[in-house]
Amino acid sequence: MAHALSKSSFIRGVQCIKSLYLYKYHYKLRDAISASQQALFSRGINVGKIAHDIFPGGVDVTPESVFKYSESVKKTRKLIESGTEVIYEAAFIFNEVLAAVDILVKRDGQWFAYEVKSSTRISDVYRLDASLQYYVIKNAGIELADFLILHLNNHYVRKGKIEPEKLFTAVSLLSECKKNQAMIAEKVHELKKISSLTVAPDIKIGKHCFEPYTCDFMGQCWKNIPPNSVFELAGMSREKQFELFNNGFVKISDVPADYSLEKNQRIQVDATNSGKELIDKTELAKFLLTIKYPLYFFDIETFMPAVPMFEDTSPFQHIPFQYSLHYKNSKTDTLQHTEFLAEAGTDPRKEFITHFLESTKDAACILVYNRTFESSVIARLGNDFPELKSEIEKRLAIMIDLMEPFQKRHYYHPMMKGSHSIKNVLPALFPDFNHKDLAISDGTMAMGAFEQLQTETDIFKIAELRDNLIAYCKLDTLAMVKIFEFLEEIN
Ligand code: SF4
Repeated sequence: MAHALSKSSFIRGVQCIKSLYLYKYHYKLRDAISASQQALFSRGINVGKIAHDIFPGGVDVTPESVFKYSESVKKTRKLIESGTEVIYEAAFIFNEVLAAVDILVKRDGQWFAYEVKSSTRISDVYRLDASLQYYVIKNAGIELADFLILHLNNHYVRKGKIEPEKLFTAVSLLSECKKNQAMIAEKVHELKKISSLTVAPDIKIGKHCFEPYTCDFMGQCWKNIPPNSVFELAGMSREKQFELFNNGFVKISDVPADYSLEKNQRIQVDATNSGKELIDKTELAKFLLTIKYPLYFFDIETFMPAVPMFEDTSPFQHIPFQYSLHYKNSKTDTLQHTEFLAEAGTDPRKEFITHFLESTKDAACILVYNRTFESSVIARLGNDFPELKSEIEKRLAIMIDLMEPFQKRHYYHPMMKGSHSIKNVLPALFPDFNHKDLAISDGTMAMGAFEQLQTETDIFKIAELRDNLIAYCKLDTLAMVKIFEFLEEIN
């Protein structure tokens, strides 16, 4: 009972048949997974297990390894024949396509399939995935009364113990699944033919390389795209980028002078072509005039548990657990530093905000990089702790965005590649000052490290993770100090 296609290879093949071919026959050519992506994959707890509590007492037929799915198929068949009414990871094969549904339930003599998703909305991929599963299960002989997605309910607010019935929202996709059956059968037929190919299908790069997922063979198919290509033009739709590319304009320097571009794209093109930075001293001076001392440089880290860990929180709510503050009481004062990193296992919010308010009580100005994010997290704490709201509002009133001069192009360097993110601005200004040597080098990894701390018991590992988090966050605010001093210097 070998299978030619699984749910994931089907989705891959629908995105691009070349990707499916390369995955089957040249697996090693896949792009390496970055540490940040790895942190993302290993994040969070198994939401599926919590959904089991809605349908308790089921038999789990999850195979020991992905190579043993045929055993799960046999077990599922036997359980159905013996009258079992709840099966977790129920597996079926039809037409060499394998599908395992998270929960299969028999109620009043009818079968219902539930697929559990750790997200708060139903994507097009989930709809396609459900249609494929329906195709396999129905044709394997199980008539489904309904096929439902159980996704996380973003209006759920935890009160006491997790209530699975309220945590999830069930949405029927039955009519969509039925409507898609002819298309699924046709796609299965087409994708199974990939097995007989001896060379990779001739598929050109296109929008499909990014939709629905960024393909993991881009290192292969995109290797001849040079640096400073039109695909680096920030804020330009993929359609427009490919329109340029397909008309022979591969590099930014190839873009015709009269080609219609937005203001920031024109700045990017001109700066890339001249290799020179752009400085608007008048606007920069106006920005710098808003800065007052004592001046604080503030950066926070948050994590977003899919299943709320703390009272009065919702799925994927940003929970702040760490901050770094560099500060100077006057322009000539020496730079000082303070920080906060919560202990794992407890709700960090109250301690975080109390510590922050105390540390910034003398601040005249708090510089952040991306005020929208930082201020929304801090403002939410004002709702969580109304007794602190007026103090929190005072801090929000003096929060200034260091990103603004870059976002508004008061300063632009060709190395910023059209972006105003600190990850692009910092290396453009200080090529040797970066996070490369740190064990944690971005916010996703910091999130992953703090989530790991929730269950870590090895005291040495705990100490190492905490040291890594502190080093990372501290470097972020130090980077802000350097960026600010740079702006002062060039003005
Ligand atoms: S990079 Fe693009 S063309 Fe190449 S396999 Fe992936 S999706 Fe297909």
